[in-house]
Amino acid sequence: MKWTNYHSHTSFSDGKGEAELYAISAIEHKMYAYGYSCHSPVPFYSGWNMKFENLLAYINEIKRLKIKYQDKIKIFLGMEIDYIKNIIGINNFKHLNLDYTIGGVHFLGFFDDGSAWDYDGGKIKYEKGLKELFNNDIKSLVKYYYEQVNNMIIDEKPDIVAHLDLIKKYNKGNFFFDENEKWYKDLVFETLNIISKSDSILEVNTRGVLKGLNEEFYPSNFVLDKCKELNIKMCINADTHNPTDVMALLPEVRNLLIDKGFKEFYIFDEKGWEPIGIEN
Ligand SMILES: [Zn+2]
Ligand SMILES: [Zn+2]
Repeated sequence: MKWTNYHSHTSFSDGKGEAELYAISAIEHKMYAYGYSCHSPVPFYSGWNMKFENLLAYINEIKRLKIKYQDKIKIFLGMEIDYIKNIIGINNFKHLNLDYTIGGVHFLGFFDDGSAWDYDGGKIKYEKGLKELFNNDIKSLVKYYYEQVNNMIIDEKPDIVAHLDLIKKYNKGNFFFDENEKWYKDLVFETLNIISKSDSILEVNTRGVLKGLNEEFYPSNFVLDKCKELNIKMCINADTHNPTDVMALLPEVRNLLIDKGFKEFYIFDEKGWEPIGIEN
């Protein structure tokens, strides 16, 4: 089995530990390929995005590791790039010639004091944004979120779409909305249709389950069923923030995808993105 993980954050953004520790851990786990994807810089204050002034150091360090460990593992340079309509997106970083890009939506507006709302920055902050920016109307928030994901896929063409339903991060026990309701499923399925017509790959992301926030991965099981039906290209990522977690729950995702009838998933190496048999 060729284990891969292209979604990871080091101390260059909000991960714990230096980039090299992740490579060493991935080698210990006998992984086939490992990708770094620290959070892209944004043009306003954020406590967890990379700073613009650290971008070059990040790129140089991953390139150094790629060469240093080339006999042991394939290392790739990516970035998880924030999409904010008319403010920033993947197209702003094209000149970096990254090996691959992960597109994600983490910001959904700005508060009156000018600070950005990262809806995944804690339940209290989620409730604050819902109240102050969306008038406590959860449907309009969720609809707005998926619209941004749709725009990102169409306008910015990420190689990987990050954590499709991250908007459910604090929704354990249907706290904010019911994923089984038709309005919600319609929104998710509309986005899946857009992905299925694009070249983007959708990741299964284990972080919410690893952290005990969610019972199902990003995306949820019913979404995975639809992905299968639509033949969406999938990859398996851990959204790693700690060198110990380079493989976190990846075998569990593989088993789940096998149970659901998936025959393949996508990996990236020097030949580009290619499907491989999931039971290999
Ligand atoms: Zn993310
Ligand atoms: Zn991430």
